[in-house]
Amino acid sequence: MKAKILLVEDEVKLARVVADYLTAAGFDVLKAYTGKEALAFFRHEKPDLVILDIMLPEMNGLEVAKIIRKESSTPIIMLTAKVEESDRVLGLEMGADDYITKPFSLRELVARVKAVLRRARGEVFTPTLRVGDIEIDLQKREVTVAGKPVELTPTEFEILNLLARHPGRVFTRLEILQRIQSYAYESYERTVDVHIRNLRKKIEPDPKNPRYILTVYGVGYKLAEE
Ligand code: CA
Repeated sequence: MKAKILLVEDEVKLARVVADYLTAAGFDVLKAYTGKEALAFFRHEKPDLVILDIMLPEMNGLEVAKIIRKESSTPIIMLTAKVEESDRVLGLEMGADDYITKPFSLRELVARVKAVLRRARGEVFTPTLRVGDIEIDLQKREVTVAGKPVELTPTEFEILNLLARHPGRVFTRLEILQRIQSYAYESYERTVDVHIRNLRKKIEPDPKNPRYILTVYGVGYKLAEE
């Protein structure tokens, strides 16, 4: 099934060029030229991804992103003409998944769109994650290492699941606690270390020299990229 993309861009020419390119790349594209139009389309058409320009008439892209994020977890890529860091940071804070600075190459945009869609789908639909010898069955909440089942506590499972969904991405201890929310209140940041240590004992061939869950000194943890 083709992914449906809502493209929000008030520069008519640019919108047409981008829409044509995305269509040629195999996407269904809807165009909106103002923030209000974007929200109306978004609610009615339920796109798989939104490409959102920041500078729009009536309501700017940041406001639109904020409203979309309140209503859904649909991925958003912000387009920004400004090079200012503050705009990008603001966009990401409003819940955008990625941003791209104008002028951008269409190939680059398509690559970002595919990456963001893959990520979004992975989080929702992948029933099994595999990293090296580790297999995580997200539906059964079962973990095996080299085919052998390992028993994890709910917290250990959540931490491993979080890291495995984002190989290579570094998480701070605080982030780890926030992301595994339901357990966050029971502990302080350092208790993450205890969970990680226990997790390593269960999944690492040599827990003293971890191969899967790596410590990023002074920051937190990440799952090794293959
Ligand atoms: Ca614009």
